[in-house]
Amino acid sequence: MENPVQLPWSCALVIGAGASGRAAAALLRHLGCEVRVYDRSAKATVPEGCVAFVGRPEVPREAFTDIDLLVLSPGVPPEPIRQAAATLGANVQFHGELSLALELFEQLAPGRPAVLITGTNGKSTVTALLGCLLESAGREPFVGGNLGEPLSTRMLACLRDGAALPDSLVIECSSYQLETLEHHPTAVAMVLNVTPDHLERYASFDAYAMTKARIFAGLSAGGLALVDATDSYTPRFRGEIPSAATCVEVDGQTPTSARIEGDGPGHTLHLPGGQSLPRKALQLAGRHNSKNALFAVLAARHLGLTLAQCRHGLGQFSGLAHRMVKVAEIDGVAYYNDSKATNVASVLAGLDGFARKFVLIAGGRAKGDDYSLLRGVLTHGGRGLVTIGEAGPAIAEATAGIVPTTSASSMVQALQKARAMARPGDAVILSPACSSFDWYDNFRHRGEVFDAAVRQLAG
Ligand code: ADP
Repeated sequence: MENPVQLPWSCALVIGAGASGRAAAALLRHLGCEVRVYDRSAKATVPEGCVAFVGRPEVPREAFTDIDLLVLSPGVPPEPIRQAAATLGANVQFHGELSLALELFEQLAPGRPAVLITGTNGKSTVTALLGCLLESAGREPFVGGNLGEPLSTRMLACLRDGAALPDSLVIECSSYQLETLEHHPTAVAMVLNVTPDHLERYASFDAYAMTKARIFAGLSAGGLALVDATDSYTPRFRGEIPSAATCVEVDGQTPTSARIEGDGPGHTLHLPGGQSLPRKALQLAGRHNSKNALFAVLAARHLGLTLAQCRHGLGQFSGLAHRMVKVAEIDGVAYYNDSKATNVASVLAGLDGFARKFVLIAGGRAKGDDYSLLRGVLTHGGRGLVTIGEAGPAIAEATAGIVPTTSASSMVQALQKARAMARPGDAVILSPACSSFDWYDNFRHRGEVFDAAVRQLAG
């Protein structure tokens, strides 16, 4: 494809050489920009044609010289870099990888709808589910962002390798990505929920929650905002939604909200305006997944899918790995991998209404959560608790006196101890309420170690 994108920048500095930083650097380089890439790690690699500033504790002064664009990776807190650039007198525009790619996509394919999805929990599920609804209706969306492929990578494939341009964008946005998101024309923006998370990065819960509200900034007339009626931040979010956009509340009680009616597998998903879908169209368990489905269906309807197409698409979606996936049944005990439950709210969502008594394996690197909130589910359905990792002692202390509790120094040992506590008919669930970085590379790695250990147990 001939290059239809005109860059307003000539020299960029990309901070962070992770997947998204490298993707942004490669895209900018392809579009003719001079690109420098900084990463603290000496092992970092940079795309061909970019100048590497790697393996130094701070961004070197010379890396800022003459730049007119700074691209920040999601893992990098923006403020110190903004300050460093300002003290050097650099006159630069700031972008995150996602915000940059969205701006360039708009140049390349103006007017194609973008759906932006955020929330503390459920982002990946709703992103993948909406992608599945659209694909099963014959659309060709890009589905990614924080989940899977960075948008810059896809843009490069379109521009350089002639890959087909997606007809729409379904983008999972983390709060880190939203910190650097500038106004972007948005068809649908949603905040699924907000509960305390990432308190190690933000000054307060309020600061974290209100970062999520940045997602609404690009909505204009004809745009749709989706929020959860039961979320404590929703009244504040309403104030951040441009007045020309429509707002629909999910799980509300008014006729204009989207509702879940009834309990158990027979319940119904109601859309505003009187349309409804049977809950059994969706294979994923739990009330939280009924909400996830409503968010995805409302967005799909806004993008023009019929109710019948949505119903068909819901039936095609079998869920994502590491989110409450049953790995095996051994001696009457079911083993579940919920490694993606990296905060207390996601553990509670998975265990709320869980049909079996369970032994919970929890722990990892703490993120500032209040573990005493686990007391309720343990009282209701807990058989035992096995703690792992750095946060293990804090979890044991916050939940003391409810169920037999023990600690383990490896996943294999945790499983052996959990197995000894479980009775036939019970479940053993890895749902850690913590990040994985004390023992593992990421939640996927933790989940894979768990799955392998379960299979070993099965012999
Ligand atoms: P995210 O991408 O926001 O981390 P995922 O879809 O990967 O969300 O799910 C992460 C965890 O949160 C899983 O343990 C899942 O069971 C749980 N979860 C999914 N949807 C919701 C929801 N709407 N509310 C609370 N927890 C949820």
